[in-house]
Amino acid sequence: MDAALEKVHEEVLRRNPGESEFHQAVTEIFETLSPVMKRHPEYAEQSILQRMCEPERQIIFRVPWLDDEGNVHINRGFRVEFNSALGPYKGGLRFHPSLYLGIVKFLGFEQIFKNALTGMPIGGGKGGSDFNPAGRSEDEIMRFCQSFMTELYRHIGEYTDVPAGDIGVGGREIGYLFGQYKRITNKWEAGTLTGKGISWGGSLARTEATGYGAVMFTDSMLHTKNQSMDGQTVAVSGSGNVAIYAIQKATQLGATVVTASDSSGYVHDPDGIDLDLLRQIKEVERGRISDYADRRGGKATYQSSGSVWDVPVTVALPCATQNELTEENAKTLIKNGVVALAEGANMPCTHDAAAAFKEAGVLFGPGKAANAGGVATSALEMQQNAVRDSWSFSYTHDRLEQIMTDIHDRCVATAEDFGVPGDYVMGANIAGFTKVADAMLAQGVV
Ligand code: NDP
Repeated sequence: MDAALEKVHEEVLRRNPGESEFHQAVTEIFETLSPVMKRHPEYAEQSILQRMCEPERQIIFRVPWLDDEGNVHINRGFRVEFNSALGPYKGGLRFHPSLYLGIVKFLGFEQIFKNALTGMPIGGGKGGSDFNPAGRSEDEIMRFCQSFMTELYRHIGEYTDVPAGDIGVGGREIGYLFGQYKRITNKWEAGTLTGKGISWGGSLARTEATGYGAVMFTDSMLHTKNQSMDGQTVAVSGSGNVAIYAIQKATQLGATVVTASDSSGYVHDPDGIDLDLLRQIKEVERGRISDYADRRGGKATYQSSGSVWDVPVTVALPCATQNELTEENAKTLIKNGVVALAEGANMPCTHDAAAAFKEAGVLFGPGKAANAGGVATSALEMQQNAVRDSWSFSYTHDRLEQIMTDIHDRCVATAEDFGVPGDYVMGANIAGFTKVADAMLAQGVV
């Protein structure tokens, strides 16, 4: 990082104390921007970076709700509307007990560049709550979502801010959130939330899009080395939305996925994960990954310690959560011969893990490029809502595939242009950043 960037970087960290994940995301971007700031002095003259690091609006609110026994609970709700240079704020809602402002801001900051990379007219935002849905009844989840939306509704809308799902927020929660939005506003405004059910404004292929897109991106990276997903042995972490559809697409493309996990442990299934069984346990029964090994039998084993990254594989797809893959994990993967990694989750690799992969020459697809298929398909859902249409699965899938190819190629071309061929982190950061920076310059000091 050169001296001018370092000064701005220090100031951003100072102004946002105690937000380690936000610091990590900001540092990761700043470390790649020296060449672009040299080429475009107007960005520094207009304080583009300082403006980008300060959210346009941050909303924090109380979410009171009653459990099934009539006890009152209080959670904290967040929505960070980070940047609207390219379109309405767009980004998911996360319900997880670890959530606080620093995580929402890291996710919202990443989202700005990711959304820019999709080529769609969407700005960046993120939100959620420290509510823990684990072990809660259907009624409790519904009451929580209704209370959350009773405040959030006044801040969102199809031309303002369009939330979607993330960890702990899937189709069920989006349904309750949409129902309450409609009830309060008396408007059937489908374009206000994405990830909706197919019969009421949702898009086919949205559920699959993030996981599918991450595997499509990996396949494109492998093609640059005359390889493909076909024949690869793959480790996937997580067993939620992104993980399940990453496993499905990798298997469709001829790979063998040998792991899945949740926050309690992981399974190793050398014959390949049985996706029907995994979906039954995780999507239908909302059970634990440990049930998988018991019911699968054969060579499948469950481990409550260690991690999926201990298993020898050629492709790694972290699809659970931030900082789940450490430098030590990276060294194990590299020793075991990993050739490619794509971040299905947001910032799953620690700073040092990412550096180790770079050093070892592993193809490394950063989240803001590799997992952009989800938000891109959300933008396709918004398009369908705007013209009151619904497209077929295959049409939407093909659009997703084209978008992922375009993102990949844009990363490659930008990295080459800036003299760092094959560096997808530099390519993604610079391509996303310049698109937003140019729009901000054009729109004046706002
Ligand atoms: P889900 O809630 O569907 O699944 C999350 C999975 O990760 C679960 O298996 C969960 O296990 C596991 N997990 C969560 N927190 C932890 C933790 N602290 N330690 C270990 N495992 C954990 O979420 P998604 O699949 O939607 O999201 C996964 C990641 O992908 C997130 O980083 C998200 O931001 C990112 N992402 C998601 C998009 C989407 O379209 N859904 C789009 C782009 C990125 P458990 O059930 O035990 O908690």
